[in-house]
Amino acid sequence: MSSVTVRVPAKVNVQLSVGPLREDGYHDLVNVFHAVSVFDEVVAKESDSITVSVAGEWADQVPLDDGNLAIQAARALAKHAGRTYGAELIIHKSIPVAGGMAGGSADAAGALVACNELWGLGLPVEDLMEIAADLGSDVPFSLLGGTAVGTGRGERLSDAPTGGEFHWAFAVAHGGLSTAKVYAECDRLRESSGAEVPWPQLSESLLAALRTGDAEALGARLGNDLQAAALSLRPDLSQTLDAGREAGALGALVSGSGPTCAFLATDADHAQRLADTLTALPTCRTALAAHGPVPGPRPV
Ligand code: ATP
Repeated sequence: MSSVTVRVPAKVNVQLSVGPLREDGYHDLVNVFHAVSVFDEVVAKESDSITVSVAGEWADQVPLDDGNLAIQAARALAKHAGRTYGAELIIHKSIPVAGGMAGGSADAAGALVACNELWGLGLPVEDLMEIAADLGSDVPFSLLGGTAVGTGRGERLSDAPTGGEFHWAFAVAHGGLSTAKVYAECDRLRESSGAEVPWPQLSESLLAALRTGDAEALGARLGNDLQAAALSLRPDLSQTLDAGREAGALGALVSGSGPTCAFLATDADHAQRLADTLTALPTCRTALAAHGPVPGPRPV
């Protein structure tokens, strides 16, 4: 095979509960990931060495050196297979960069699947999951897709059944937010409030809403413990959230560490109308309509 193309989705966290700061600097999380139909495409072509190039709207914000997660993924896979392999990776980027939608993790997962195929390794998904967990805490979910509960740092995953399709609008902000800075701000706000931080708990009513496909119930239960920190760093996001709520969103929240904001819609038409309203806001760079859950990376 001389070339493999894989399409890989973005995610939104429908629940992101952040436990107290651990001694090792991480937090225990309860994370309900949901893959949505905003896709990057990762192409892997035969080559002597591992290289990457990026095309698309967000391309100028993506590193092309060893900092690129797709390169790191291809290298880790070659190391796991115990051989020197090459691949020319070409990423067509549609997932906003540093937007809280796990675009880098998606590209890493896409590179694992594409190179596994290109190099004829035939490794099972369990092996790819192990490599993914070392690359970053969102990469295992990006490999899995669908809807799943993550615990630990987010890397211990179990499938969450869903009863139907949910429709979303995503408001993409100007500029990005660093995930590390948002966690640091979350810790700072918690320390200055002095309140005890509870152990993160999975919301059973949120799982029930997902299982029964009840968008109204899901909208009422969306939650993100990083939202206060993201709003503290980017107060303009409040206007975006308010505008989506006023336009009839069933629920609104910051996606992951932000600054992308996610809005749950009643159906596909409503999602498109929400996206049109949000696109016109001065606080938004653009907005996208999408649906979920969608499967993880697949060769196309
Ligand atoms: P998450 O939701 O997992 O916290 P994010 O969506 O906020 O992540 P990413 O788009 O994954 O953020 O990008 C975070 C940083 O990772 C970027 O600023 C960029 O420098 C770096 N990066 C490395 N590889 C990639 C890639 N393939 N695509 C996008 N960003 C990448």
